[in-house]
Amino acid sequence: MRAGSGPKGSRVSMTDESVAIWADGMRVARRLEEAGHRAYLVGGCVRDRLLGRPLKDADIATSALPRQVMKLFPDAIPTGLKYGTVSVRMNGRLFEVTTFRSETGYSDGRHPDRVAFVGEIREDLARRDFTINAMAAGTDGEILDPFGGRRDLESGVVRCVGRAEERFAEDALRMLRAVRFAAELGFRLAPSVWKAILRHRERLRMVAVERAAAELDRMTAGRDPDRAWALLIRSGLAASLKAPLPVPDLAGLRTVRLAAVAEAELRWPLLWISGGADEGGAEEAARALRISRARGERWKGAVGVHRRFETVFGNLDGAEARETWIGAVIDRGRSAAEDWLSLSGGLLAVPREAFDKAARWLREMPVYEIRDLAVDGGDLTRHLQRPRGPWVGRLLRRLLEETAAGRAPNEREALLALADRLSGEEG
Ligand code: ATP
Ligand code: MG
Repeated sequence: MRAGSGPKGSRVSMTDESVAIWADGMRVARRLEEAGHRAYLVGGCVRDRLLGRPLKDADIATSALPRQVMKLFPDAIPTGLKYGTVSVRMNGRLFEVTTFRSETGYSDGRHPDRVAFVGEIREDLARRDFTINAMAAGTDGEILDPFGGRRDLESGVVRCVGRAEERFAEDALRMLRAVRFAAELGFRLAPSVWKAILRHRERLRMVAVERAAAELDRMTAGRDPDRAWALLIRSGLAASLKAPLPVPDLAGLRTVRLAAVAEAELRWPLLWISGGADEGGAEEAARALRISRARGERWKGAVGVHRRFETVFGNLDGAEARETWIGAVIDRGRSAAEDWLSLSGGLLAVPREAFDKAARWLREMPVYEIRDLAVDGGDLTRHLQRPRGPWVGRLLRRLLEETAAGRAPNEREALLALADRLSGEEG
């Protein structure tokens, strides 16, 4: 069987970029072979090429030792020497070239105790996680497929190389990878994989938060995030993460459609909302997943807007609904409000009317933040002839509320007069 014809005999239509990645990867492999080594394209690129999916990169496995690879490619970068990986450049693209290796030990359920360079591609393929990821393409175009990856691609199954029980005990992250590939490719999990997940899910707690979070990020941003999360919840993996997260139960998950939200980042706050989290919960989730502060702030803002605004879904005609929305925009910021509008399409509990009104109210706001006001703190202290103090911020905030709601014009004289009145009220 040759690479390039899709499963079930369908013709694949690769993008130009994918064709170029494959061709350049083959050039790297050929140069290694011309020097007397063996070399193959391996793993994800072989799988994706057989499926006709776009390639992001191509990895190369070789019998050459890292120093031999370095000698053949003078501008090579020793990216992971310990694991036998060297990055080489071909026509401006970087390729990871890794010496055939086996892994043994895994006494911590995360990392192999030893990696050993081996002489045969077959041994290298045997250490890989799933049959569909354990194929190699030679420079002659032949596919090496010792574990039936081709058959599993055709029937759409994620199956471990070897016994699932053992493979998940070695590296618990593979359970998340199984879910990710199933959701991304629209595949089923082999019964052996499902059973082994149920049996070993608790081991996920041994996996570093960052590694798990990277997998979760990829499946949440991926092609079928709803199925990914349904599998995570149904299998118990979601509840076995090292970091407890406010993820919904299966019933809660039915109240959202993650895939309906185009911007993948906003699927996260959607998930927290369906898990019943408030702003504090979103913040804790961000911390637990060790993601960046900026991302966490964004999650928090969108969840915060939702929790405020949902309190008026029952009565959208009253003035209170608009006040509540505007208050949320002022508190959480315009971009948080815009984020909420973008993600609300995935929240089945949001009435159409709530979305339409919120979008209009946001558009119609003459000011969104204190910086937009026609007066600043200095104007207020001079005009009221009072020394600076916390009253300035409070007063600016009141002026913002009045102008944002359209009850006062955003004009200097009018705002100073309003400041007189309001500070009189405050005493
Ligand atoms: P993707 O499209 O997600 O990048 P991929 O198959 O290239 O898919 P990578 O994480 O880039 O996935 O890993 C490259 C290859 O290394 C895999 O195809 C698989 O053969 C092997 N591999 C990666 N992680 C593991 C693991 N935890 N256990 C065993 N093999 C793994
Ligand atoms: Mg990859």
